[in-house]
Amino acid sequence: MIYFDHNSTTPYSPSVRRYIEQGILEDWYNPSSTYSQAQTLHQKMRECRKFIADYLNCSPKYLFFTSGGTESINTILSLETLKRNQLSTFITSHLEHHATIKKIDYLSDYQNIRPYWTSNNEQGEINLENLEKMCSKHPYSLLSFLSANNETGVITNIQAISKIAKKYNCLVHVDAVQSLGKMPVDLEKWDVDFASFSGHKMGAMKGVGLLYARKPFASLMYGGGQERGLRPGTQNYPAIQSFKLAVQDIDLNKQEYVKQLRDYFENTLAPMYKYQSKDFSPSKKEDQYFTQNDWKEETFPFKINCKKANRLSNTSSIYCGMGISNQAILLHLVQKGICVSAGSACNAGSPEPSHVITALGICDDISLRDYARSCIRISLSPSNTKQEIDFLIQTLKELVSPASYLRGIPSRNLSF
Ligand code: PLP
Repeated sequence: MIYFDHNSTTPYSPSVRRYIEQGILEDWYNPSSTYSQAQTLHQKMRECRKFIADYLNCSPKYLFFTSGGTESINTILSLETLKRNQLSTFITSHLEHHATIKKIDYLSDYQNIRPYWTSNNEQGEINLENLEKMCSKHPYSLLSFLSANNETGVITNIQAISKIAKKYNCLVHVDAVQSLGKMPVDLEKWDVDFASFSGHKMGAMKGVGLLYARKPFASLMYGGGQERGLRPGTQNYPAIQSFKLAVQDIDLNKQEYVKQLRDYFENTLAPMYKYQSKDFSPSKKEDQYFTQNDWKEETFPFKINCKKANRLSNTSSIYCGMGISNQAILLHLVQKGICVSAGSACNAGSPEPSHVITALGICDDISLRDYARSCIRISLSPSNTKQEIDFLIQTLKELVSPASYLRGIPSRNLSF
């Protein structure tokens, strides 16, 4: 099996694997109990929190263990957070993960909150001028933005957002789920008030996440005094330990190799502005970037989304051509033993096209929804190889070439 879906979830990091194989069996005590075995876990949990805090450059007192990114995000984006910090509303973007968008939609539909949505460009970058205008009109807001987009990999300038927020008495929450392990994360430098993280995106177990909060917030749940009463419920010690071990295993130096692999993939599959098929007319803006000489007669329709933006090293979002359903592509790739996704894993199997790709507003010749239905996401890790990439390129090219009709590969005009 060839795995190119690391933004969806990751295999265990080496230390986590070792812990599962050798250490986990003894760690079943409730860390809140009083006898020594349990207290040992309590102490180890304290060490985990301190270790992770040092890595993130923050105080351990601001870190709370949760069940994952979704819970952390849902906890912070609440009426209670607004009330406790004398804030009035939320400002966010259409490019956020569903954990953010659906919670904000809920607050808007049922809690009488009117949220504001910033604009973005075709490269998936937040329009900071527009954001500043919005903050000046609606000071005392809670801003929530991804530090790196799960579908396109586009990195947001969180420091710039924090600066704007300060000017207008706003607070900032950052969804950093996709950043940890793939790019530097320094909470002091970002200067944000809240941040959400998830274990299973960076080599730890599923069912563990982290919430950073240096400003007041309220628990989603009521119960015991764990996590200072702000996240009641018995702590999942083995998963928390795995979070610490996965952080310990992070080696950002390997991202240079991952970037080379990703760039090789993109440049081989779709050399910039050259591989435009006859049936794909580029948007006017792109016209500025290539001349008629750059066109190829017989070519493939692949196009890399957000290629000009600052992106995570490992992520590539690809448009595969008009009328080619991403669900059909996924099916074909699975038959070849290749795992990729159509976008967010949370939406897998949904007939709805990706809200992130449609929000890019890329094309003016086919509908945005049709465009998004023909996009797939590749997300790499240091464990991937050039041979695997070559096989993926070859398989994708076979799949979308006109000759594939003749060979009966069911790619075009299939919908699921
Ligand atoms: N935020 C982003 C950017 C994500 O990619 C995900 C998971 O896909 C989440 C939040 C949700 O995290 P979890 O799966 O830990 O609930």
